[in-house]
Amino acid sequence: MIAETDPQKMYRAMQAKLAGVVPDFELKIKSEFAAEINRLKVEKNAVILGHNYMEPALFHSIPDFVGDSLELARRAAQTDKDVIVFCGVKFMAETAKILNPRKTVLLPSEKAGCSLAESITAEDVRELRRRFPGVPVVTYVNTYADVKAESDICCTSGNAAAVVESLKTDTVIFIPDEYLARNVAKATGKHIIFPTADPRKKFEDDLDYQMIGWPGRCEVHDKFTVEDIVAVRKQFPDVTILAHPECSPEVVAASDFSGSTTAMIRHVENTSAARYLLLTECAMGDNVAAANPDKEMLRLCSVRCPHMNQITLEDTLESLRKNQYVIDIPEEILKRAARSVERMIAIG
Ligand code: SF4
Repeated sequence: MIAETDPQKMYRAMQAKLAGVVPDFELKIKSEFAAEINRLKVEKNAVILGHNYMEPALFHSIPDFVGDSLELARRAAQTDKDVIVFCGVKFMAETAKILNPRKTVLLPSEKAGCSLAESITAEDVRELRRRFPGVPVVTYVNTYADVKAESDICCTSGNAAAVVESLKTDTVIFIPDEYLARNVAKATGKHIIFPTADPRKKFEDDLDYQMIGWPGRCEVHDKFTVEDIVAVRKQFPDVTILAHPECSPEVVAASDFSGSTTAMIRHVENTSAARYLLLTECAMGDNVAAANPDKEMLRLCSVRCPHMNQITLEDTLESLRKNQYVIDIPEEILKRAARSVERMIAIG
């Protein structure tokens, strides 16, 4: 975080960090927004949380804390500020609200959704429970509050395998990310089936399944292919490729390392490969490049999340000025969702 409230000083601080990553004319404009956000943040007793996928000028300037969903959920649980501004997408801001029901949580853009969160509804989860009675539901945090409320426990890409193992049951419903479910099944040695979305179709009773998935996908990580990896390796044989577990199991298998965004950042920080390529939302590659000027990051990526991309410094400033957009969750959903999220946080 750069705490400056003076636009000139903010510009120089951002330039020192981001020259070569963000064009200078952009830094000049954005440093003015960032300085004003810092001033308002103090005035309103607000904390700003920034996801690893935020664009570099935002990521490296205004957030008090940056990280992945799990780290930011933990930060949200610990804050003593009156207002939480969530520079991320709606399901993340909802998680912050679930953990801080009495605080004001703001999301700077109403359009910051998520293809995974939209792939499943609370009624879908109730239907799965009817079809598989007694089977615990593990829900990825990339879901809305009403889906979390129908679940037994949440997980992130960083702790999904540990959460599944913690349940000590033979069968688990794991929703909604198909690829994450497959990657977790591989890591835990479980078999997996995907129920059809058509409730009229029944399952074979003697099917040997241990994880029941759901056909949701992240529209960003779904774009990376094994062919991409083969082409990059041909050009840069010494590259280390890191894939997010929302990528397909084939892409993960063809990569050198797979982990949550935080695990990927730590891997780059703690190793000394000739060069790195991150298979995840592309703003993160820029953020890692800016934070590690001594490491060579291949910048071949052009896949931006259209939802994360909605969050800008301009919108964050408007959010603080106008107190918008307030996250509101009905009390009854909030309480049940809190149980699933708190169970996950207790596991770590
Ligand atoms: S990157 Fe994928 S999972 Fe994350 S917010 Fe965007 S669509 Fe959702």
